[in-house]
Amino acid sequence: MQIADGTVVYFHYTLTNADGDVLDASAVDAPLGYLHGAGNIISGLESALTGRRTGDRFEVTVAPEDAYGVRDESLVQSVPRSAFEGIAQLAPGMRFESRSESGDAQVVTVTEVGDGSVTIDGNHPLAGQSLTFVVEVTEVRAATAQEQAHGHLHEHGHDH
Ligand code: ZN
Repeated sequence: MQIADGTVVYFHYTLTNADGDVLDASAVDAPLGYLHGAGNIISGLESALTGRRTGDRFEVTVAPEDAYGVRDESLVQSVPRSAFEGIAQLAPGMRFESRSESGDAQVVTVTEVGDGSVTIDGNHPLAGQSLTFVVEVTEVRAATAQEQAHGHLHEHGHDH
């Protein structure tokens, strides 16, 4: 079966950045599954999978616009240290969920800890990066009507 909207796809992948550093990979015995055409994975990878079949292997480099977006420097902010009251070991690299003024949940990364202020970055850690995926498609099946209605796959009898 060919990958198209309304199919469930399982694939192995290795993700590297432009420097060749491996950022992520599927576990040997656990390919990643998703419902194709539902925006469950980054758009550049989803497009590259369209039309592939079980057993296909390929490599694709996805530009930031089709991955986790370009960096938005307005999302880098300095906030008072008191905003992190109660967190004694505050250090660069720590991530927190916060609410923006519009009420959306936003994950911020601490990038600098000063005496009185803390710099936080609301960009996705992979924003601005071109990402290379080496992919092997392991299974393609038709999605069930319920999976299509929910917009995600139901694995191993998961039902709700
Ligand atoms: Zn569901």
